[in-house]
Amino acid sequence: MKSNRGIGLYVHVPFCVRKCRYCSFYSEPVGSVDTGGMVSAMKAELGRYELGEKVDTVYVGGGSPSCLPPAELFGLLDEITNRCTDLKEFSVEVNPGQVDGEFLCGLRERRVSRLSIGGQSFVDEELVFLGREHTADDILRTFEFGRKAGFSNISIDLIFAIPGSTVDFFRYSLESVIALGCEHVSAYSFSIEPATAIGRACEHGEVVKVDEETDRAMYEMAIDELEGVGIVQYEISNFASEGFECRHNLKYWSNDPYVGIGPGAASYFRGERYNNIADIGKYCELIENGKSAKVDGHRCQGVEAACETAVLNLRKRTGICLTEFAERTGYDAMELFGETVERYVREGLMEVSDEDGGRICLSRKALAIADGILCDFSSV
Ligand code: SF4
Repeated sequence: MKSNRGIGLYVHVPFCVRKCRYCSFYSEPVGSVDTGGMVSAMKAELGRYELGEKVDTVYVGGGSPSCLPPAELFGLLDEITNRCTDLKEFSVEVNPGQVDGEFLCGLRERRVSRLSIGGQSFVDEELVFLGREHTADDILRTFEFGRKAGFSNISIDLIFAIPGSTVDFFRYSLESVIALGCEHVSAYSFSIEPATAIGRACEHGEVVKVDEETDRAMYEMAIDELEGVGIVQYEISNFASEGFECRHNLKYWSNDPYVGIGPGAASYFRGERYNNIADIGKYCELIENGKSAKVDGHRCQGVEAACETAVLNLRKRTGICLTEFAERTGYDAMELFGETVERYVREGLMEVSDEDGGRICLSRKALAIADGILCDFSSV
């Protein structure tokens, strides 16, 4: 796979104040671990890569980066800005209620250019159900603090189809993000993960999933309402005003290289996909002893790499650019996937155009059922 684009750097801060009831990501309660030791290990891991000006986007996520003691988070961000000198985008995730104006000014001083707020819902009873630590008012306050600190690029995450939710609840959340005037919105359908408090409640019949029709109606509403105010869908779950698409996340969908730092972080670097060990103690021990924190690795090549690229590219509304696909993978996408594409075009689920040397993309009708369609591109 050829790529001459900049590298993305993902920094995974694996701490949260406490576990949300729906979350299956790897994280530990912030009070239970030596966060300072972990941050030192992460700085050391970053130093080993010697990425310098090759990195052009950084995303610090988690977990919950904003629950780290500010001095530790700022120390980590200083290390990043000192090492990565040619950044085009620098995002940090924050949780509402965990940050104030001073904290956000501290981020700006470290050249953080984009704030991603984990809002999830503007309906307090949904936030309680999810086990979030914050209220809807906290989201509004965090947004205002962000603007006052000078952030002109703010994203808010929303979850729809939360058990017990209604179309009106979700409309209220959408109207709230629109009223704030943020530049970017991520909207995900609620997914019930078995190894979570809500997953267990669902198994016991105490929580009932939102039906498919309502889930779909909420998704369609997100596309219509956001596009109505110029926040345009550019990926299955992501929407942005023109020029505010997340450059870092676009790397994932373009199958560009990225390096993940921290316990549990994933990387796609020098043609290999791998993960760091998802255990803070073991991660620190490995790094302190000069060893790699990598626990697995897979080199994706040939047709397999081409299929992977197709699946990722199709998540973007612009889909697969045929000339770029051929340059990067060495394959003609129409030759590889011709029959599948033709079938979906007949069903009105895909579109083929001559734009930019040829494109294949999902139709609007296909977006709500995209996962099933993308499966058909994962192998030939
Ligand atoms: S704050 Fe985020 S990462 Fe942490 S438990 Fe909640 S959803 Fe998961």
